[in-house]
Amino acid sequence: MDLVCASANPNKYSEISQILSGAVNLIPRPAEIPEVIEDADTLEGNARLKAVAVRMATGCAAVADDTGLEVDALGGAPGIFSARYAGENASYEDNVSKLLEALREATGEERTARFRTVALVAWQDGTETIAEGVVEGAISDRPSGAGGFGYDSVFIPIAGGGKTFAEMDDEEKNAVSHRGAAFRSLKEHLNNTIS
Ligand code: IMP
Repeated sequence: MDLVCASANPNKYSEISQILSGAVNLIPRPAEIPEVIEDADTLEGNARLKAVAVRMATGCAAVADDTGLEVDALGGAPGIFSARYAGENASYEDNVSKLLEALREATGEERTARFRTVALVAWQDGTETIAEGVVEGAISDRPSGAGGFGYDSVFIPIAGGGKTFAEMDDEEKNAVSHRGAAFRSLKEHLNNTIS
C-alpha cells in the first residue's frame, strides 16, 4: 500500500518510514505542494489539515502527524503552539531557550512533561484512521546531545535511562517516543484492517 508522507521534515520522514516499513510504502511529500497553515485548535485537527491537503494535491492516501509538548508547570504549554512557542518564525533554539527560561525556577519534580502525537491517515474515499502516542518525561535544565530536532535536546523520557532524545539514535528514540507509539498503533490498525 502506498501512503504519501505529509511531513517535509526529513527527521520525521526517516522516523516514520522506519516504523511503518513492512506495512506501507511511504512516499516522500512532493516538493511542489505548498505548506499548510496549521491553525486548528487540536493536534488531531492539525494532522487532518495536513493529511487532507496532501491527499487532495496528490490524489493518493496521505498520512500526517501533529505533536505537542505539554509541560505540567506551564499548564500544558506549549501544546499545540510547540512549533511557534517563541514566536511565528521561531527556530528550534529560540523555542528551547524560551522553555528553559520559563522553567528557570522549577525544581526536578516540577519539570515533568510529555510529548503527545496524533497520527492520521486521510484515505481516498474520505475516511480516516487515527492513532495517538504519548511519552512521559521531564525537561532537563540544559540542552544535551546533538541528534534529533525541536525540543529533543531538553526532553528526558522516563524510559530512556536518563538520556535526552538528542542523545539517542533514531532506533532508540523510536522505541520509546510519542511518534513511535502513535505510528506503531497506526501500523497495528492498518495490519488489522487490510489483511
Ligand atoms: P509538528 O507540527 O508535529 O512538527 O510539531 C510541532 C513542534 O513540536 C515542532 O516544531 C517541534 O518543535 C516539536 N516536536 C515535534 N516532534 C518532536 C520530537 O520528536 N522531538 C522534539 N520536538 C518535537
